Amino acid sequence: MTAFRSKTTDNLNQYATRPESTKNAEAMPMDTEVYESPYADPDELRTSTVDRKQLILEDGELGSGNFGTVMKGIYKMRKTEKQVAVKILKNDDNNAAVRDEMLREAGVMQQLDNPYIVRMIGICEAENLMLVMELADLGPLNKFLQKNRQIAVRNITELVHQVSMGMKYLEEHNFVHRDLAARNVLLVTQHYAKISDFGLSKALTEEENYYKAKGHGKWPVKWYAPECMNFFKFSCKSDVWSFGVLMWEAYSLGQKPYKGMKGNEVIQMIESGERMAAPANCPPEMYELMKKCWTYKADERPGFNVVEPRLRDYYYDISQ
Ligand code: ATP
Repeated sequence: MTAFRSKTTDNLNQYATRPESTKNAEAMPMDTEVYESPYADPDELRTSTVDRKQLILEDGELGSGNFGTVMKGIYKMRKTEKQVAVKILKNDDNNAAVRDEMLREAGVMQQLDNPYIVRMIGICEAENLMLVMELADLGPLNKFLQKNRQIAVRNITELVHQVSMGMKYLEEHNFVHRDLAARNVLLVTQHYAKISDFGLSKALTEEENYYKAKGHGKWPVKWYAPECMNFFKFSCKSDVWSFGVLMWEAYSLGQKPYKGMKGNEVIQMIESGERMAAPANCPPEMYELMKKCWTYKADERPGFNVVEPRLRDYYYDISQ
């Protein structure tokens, strides 16, 4: 497996490439090492297998799915310990496929190294197959927003911008996420978001900048771009479409997109050129950006290399 685990300084590099218009402004947290230092990893976290003896599982489920459950835990290292989330595959004789899926997901996560992407610590093969990840204690963004409706637009913009930084990283490294949605953004704090759930993700090849699915799966249709539905084609541009839906979810404080509509009704709506209306109190600049993300043709749609600086500039504008 090729890993590009360089100790990332993405956030610092992005400051250097920031547009001239914002360069004189005071540096914002995302342009400093603030996200690096408190979470800096000891070498032991740069492993790919976790010894069961070093792992303590705690009571209380963080979530669940087809594969089994996600529990809170503690990973004990030589000098320190770290709170972790542990995805535990349920013991069931017929789950070879689910096991393969989980190992594939771990394989993708292991190649990623960015402050705005949930880090995988390692796989633990014990009473069950377990995927050990860093913990994002405040849980999924959509649920957080539903419960914290007084949150400031600036705070939402900060979180959405962080997601765009993580997605720009994936774009630069030719990965497609394919399940980008507010439910798959987890919060470490109210001001620190990370992208998770790489179960559907694919690494793209040098030659091809898209992934062609063999057929329909259990797809999050409301988050999918027209070319995904019509030609089964997935690229960083189709992730940009999903990101537009994620922005809509965020500014609508965790509401479900296309409420009350069935998947095929959504497809018809999109094909007819209609798009979701702006959420209440959504800044017009952010609604314009969502609509750009919902450009019908993938090659006319902006990439994260364009979306991220737009969000960055807007966040700077409302923060100064
Ligand atoms: P989906 O059905 O959306 O594809 P999934 O079944 O693959 O999801 P995950 O989304 O990976 O499962 O995890 C299920 C839930 O567990 C999440 O919604 C979240 O609440 C919790 N969870 C997962 N990973 C973490 C983490 N690193 N930190 C905190 N909670 C987590």
